Amino acid sequence: MALKGKTAIITGSNSGIGLGVARELAKAGADVVLNSYTDSDEDHALAREISEETGTKARYIQADLSNGEKARGLIEKAGRCDILINNAGIQHVAPIEEFPAAKWDAIIAIMLSSAFHTAAVALPMMRKAGWGRVINIASAHGLTASPYKSAYVSAKHGVVGMTKVIALETAEEPITANAICPGYVMTPLVESQIPDTMEQYGMDRETAIREVLLKRQPSKEFATTEQLGGVAQFLCSDAAAQITGTTISVDGGWTAL
Ligand code: NAD
Repeated sequence: MALKGKTAIITGSNSGIGLGVARELAKAGADVVLNSYTDSDEDHALAREISEETGTKARYIQADLSNGEKARGLIEKAGRCDILINNAGIQHVAPIEEFPAAKWDAIIAIMLSSAFHTAAVALPMMRKAGWGRVINIASAHGLTASPYKSAYVSAKHGVVGMTKVIALETAEEPITANAICPGYVMTPLVESQIPDTMEQYGMDRETAIREVLLKRQPSKEFATTEQLGGVAQFLCSDAAAQITGTTISVDGGWTAL
């Protein structure tokens, strides 16, 4: 149990990548804090399930990360943060001239500003504990761009930049900061897009995945949430103690193109 005694806070973790990463870190022995903006029985049940499956402590703390004070409050309420995974995210797709300003603000707030606020509270906790890991879930869109995703691409490039700054500010301490840059990952959200894509393009499932969803992913395979959890675990290991201020792509070759 490599991460026994460590507390990991994973933002936006009642589904998808965040939940997958939380499960993998709990399996490695970490106590995990799940989060989203909702506060349902299902949210709290997820934490109970992880506790029962892994024997570690898992809690769910509601916080709407579009609000900076609430993002700070999440870390304060958790009381301890050895591993901070900034993962919460949303998407909106539209040409710049039609992009709603409110959507721009929400995307920048939830994906970029919240990571600044959570880190600002978590770093002193890591210093006090004498060890820490900041892992930002950026994207291939933190390194490359696509049309119609102005806010998403800007937020993810911003997250990569902030990751480097955190790494430099903690360089002489036993704290590292890195960004994982996934390509397309199989999550319930992506799965739910497959039937529509098949219908829209008149393709069978396999062709729709290969030619449309994974058009830019040379491996023609989705990454999995378990793989991302594995990379996060690696970044928490001693082998990764000198890896800081960089990005790790998990994108099946997307950024090699
Ligand atoms: P998802 O929709 O399953 O997860 C997003 C999470 O963020 C959810 O838990 C949601 O509740 C939470 N969230 C949204 N708004 C919030 C708010 N205001 N406050 C608190 N939580 C909020 O999607 P996902 O695919 O698992 O995405 C997770 C992260 O991974 C995102 O940052 C996304 O940009 C990134 N990413 C995903 C992919 C992919 O292919 N799925 C690829 C690259 C990067």
